[in-house]
Amino acid sequence: MRIALRTLSVGVLLIFVGFADAPRRRDSDWLIRVGLEQAAWAQVLYVSVSEGVLRWINPRTGQTLGEGTAGQIWELRRENGRLYAQNGQTQIASERLMAEAAEGFVMVGTAPNDLRRYRGHLEWTERDGKLLTINWILLDDYLKATLPREMPPKFHPEALKVQAVAARSFAFRRLNRYRQWGYDLCDHAPCQVYGGVDAEHPNTNAAVDATAGEGLMFEGRVVDAVYTGNCGGHTAPIEVAMVGTRPLRFLSGVSDMNGDGKPFCSVAPNGGWELNLTHAELEKRFPQVGRIRELRLTQRTAGKHAQQVQIRGERATLTLSGAEFRSAVGTGRVRSLMFEVQAQRDGWKLVGRGAGHGAGMCQWGAQGRALAGQNYRQILGAYYPGATLEAL
Ligand SMILES: [Zn+2]
Repeated sequence: MRIALRTLSVGVLLIFVGFADAPRRRDSDWLIRVGLEQAAWAQVLYVSVSEGVLRWINPRTGQTLGEGTAGQIWELRRENGRLYAQNGQTQIASERLMAEAAEGFVMVGTAPNDLRRYRGHLEWTERDGKLLTINWILLDDYLKATLPREMPPKFHPEALKVQAVAARSFAFRRLNRYRQWGYDLCDHAPCQVYGGVDAEHPNTNAAVDATAGEGLMFEGRVVDAVYTGNCGGHTAPIEVAMVGTRPLRFLSGVSDMNGDGKPFCSVAPNGGWELNLTHAELEKRFPQVGRIRELRLTQRTAGKHAQQVQIRGERATLTLSGAEFRSAVGTGRVRSLMFEVQAQRDGWKLVGRGAGHGAGMCQWGAQGRALAGQNYRQILGAYYPGATLEAL
């Protein structure tokens, strides 16, 4: 490598180095909308400010409708198509309302004594007869409030950078996903867990800043960079891991073994799991098959994930994908798809490894690889084969 570089002219080398070092801090170019489905979606909401002044604004006209101060809690409700914010004798009414903090942070929640702080500003929409809070926030602030809820901030800095790039790419793929209600992402598991200002941690903040603007691309599109807690030693092809998905080259499943034949994710505690399934439970969950005679895996992936499960009963034989089976029994109980089935006297025992759907980046594996000296680019390359790291 060094010999090859020496044959290049100094000029070419300088240009190359200059490009590689060019700052790509562009996360602040992006403003995204997070629907606080979990934290602030109710008939009545409570709004305040952490310090300084809270401004109520009509977002359509830009007009300031009223102001509050820290310590005042406003009750927000909707009646006859209008929003009403009330604090003591003061009431503000408008078809649309936006709350922003002049300094400090806006706060919102479903109970007056349980408000959470957010960067950016808040707006509201009606969904299913209730008020749903939409938090407009810069992409980097969103990532900083998300990362610590998705990966422990005590993880190795390179693993945290892997998570930052994956979370950024994942977020990009979901822009406009909830457009019928006016936001991009929700604040819980189907999207990514978003905790607001209180979730932020210096370690994960540093990982977001160090990778600012970087995302994963494949054939000109941002990659849907899904990730999983612990793959158990091999990641799962996306079409095996999740019901209703199609094969993707960068999510085709890779070995997560180190040179000694040990999974990188074996640094995780509690890597193994067991689940007892009685006849009675399975017959209740799959009543169409009648009395169950046999539960077995009829197809496995190269990485040993349960791809097809067969339940043979007195009345019928049911064949379903491993992901469908996992979802029917409960993803919290069937912790991963990397399991075997053992017959027992009163039912079956599943003996498994790993946690999560199994596709994409393995979070504990990223930690294991970082501890073994790999950098975030190498780790991303291992888990998303064929994808490239680029400025978004
Ligand atoms: Zn793994």
